[in-house]
Amino acid sequence: MGGIHLHPHDILDEGPAAIMKLVGKMGRIRYLLPEANTIFERNPYPAGILPHNPVHDVVQGTGTFHLSLDTRKLCPRLYQATDSSVEDGRDSLGLLLEAAKGTPYSVVPWVNLLNGHFEGDLHHNGVVDFRGNPVEHWLCPNGRDVVEMWTNVLLAASERYGCTTFLLDRIRFPDWAGKQVNPAGLFSCFCDRCRSKMVRLGLEPDPLRAELDGVVRMLGEKQFDEAVARITDSAAVQAWIRFKQDSVSSFIESLTASLRLRNPSIVCWLDLWPPSYAWILGQDYARLTKHSPALKHFPYHKLGGGADVQGLIEYFASERDDREQAFLAFMRLFGMDYRISYEQFKQHGFPIEFVGVENDKVRSLSQPGTYIFSGIQMWNLSPDELVLAIDEADRSAADDVLYYCYGWADPELFDAVGTRMADEK
Ligand SMILES: [Zn+2]
Repeated sequence: MGGIHLHPHDILDEGPAAIMKLVGKMGRIRYLLPEANTIFERNPYPAGILPHNPVHDVVQGTGTFHLSLDTRKLCPRLYQATDSSVEDGRDSLGLLLEAAKGTPYSVVPWVNLLNGHFEGDLHHNGVVDFRGNPVEHWLCPNGRDVVEMWTNVLLAASERYGCTTFLLDRIRFPDWAGKQVNPAGLFSCFCDRCRSKMVRLGLEPDPLRAELDGVVRMLGEKQFDEAVARITDSAAVQAWIRFKQDSVSSFIESLTASLRLRNPSIVCWLDLWPPSYAWILGQDYARLTKHSPALKHFPYHKLGGGADVQGLIEYFASERDDREQAFLAFMRLFGMDYRISYEQFKQHGFPIEFVGVENDKVRSLSQPGTYIFSGIQMWNLSPDELVLAIDEADRSAADDVLYYCYGWADPELFDAVGTRMADEK
């Protein structure tokens, strides 16, 4: 049985009854995944309007916390800004849970752990890039108070709302996307605690910085193949990638252990990047799936697998030929073997087989028995394209699908899923 992501504005603006009516058309949906705290994402992304929201055309995420809990009381040294809707007494998760009583739906809150509007001691908890600049709105998995904060918040959420399963998202180092493309965000983290940890692991931060500087210089000089070779061949860069993965895995290990100690019934699912990209952001499927019975990842083929591919290519290359070269180098770095040009990518995204290829990689990298949800892009595409993506996921090694997302999807897409599922019976 599949699931679908909801944003707080869906519940507050449309109401749970309208949501269940549309979602009910899809068939085979068991899980509703309401977002507990937003990121800085335009809804819908990157353009367009919310097609069935009666209140807002567009909602800009502000990285705020939407549950009726005071995160500052729960962890005074590190906490998240509370959304103004909560201060007005509106509780999106509470409304949804009340409405879901007695229905077949299970509610799994979806929580963004390391990206948002956090406050408190950011010096000991925030990400710093390789040039020593703070990366705005990102917490470091090695941050001093991050495990304590999320332990306390998730325990309190479970107590207040009765939920025991949570989908943990944004458990990684930053990528290059943001308000503006920022490749330096990817080359993190060099906070005090990360630098000390690097030294303990035998990785010297200063020579590593010089190596990453070299990669950036090559990209700036449009030596894309050389930059990829440096990332692939440099012992220091490869050790840094292992350091990132160890940092994220250790964070999840500490968090799940401290939750288990205080409430053994809490279960954490993980929301990960497609495996072609996950490694460079610190996500090690084999180690992470030792601590989670289920995961979702998002092989949204039309959107480059969730990565801002176009933003990165056009940041470094303005001429047509350079862009083609940069795109080839990009695909080689991330182990992709699609015979498409950059121009074709811009128009259509990756070919549909991206969905199956990434799902099969997830299966082979994850611990045996991991329940794998293939994320399915449910906006900015036609009903036929949506059904093709479901078919591709169905043929792959994934167990089921999670749709992203309710509020951005045209009404006709709910019907298309319903018809597709009815055909399968
Ligand atoms: Zn750090």
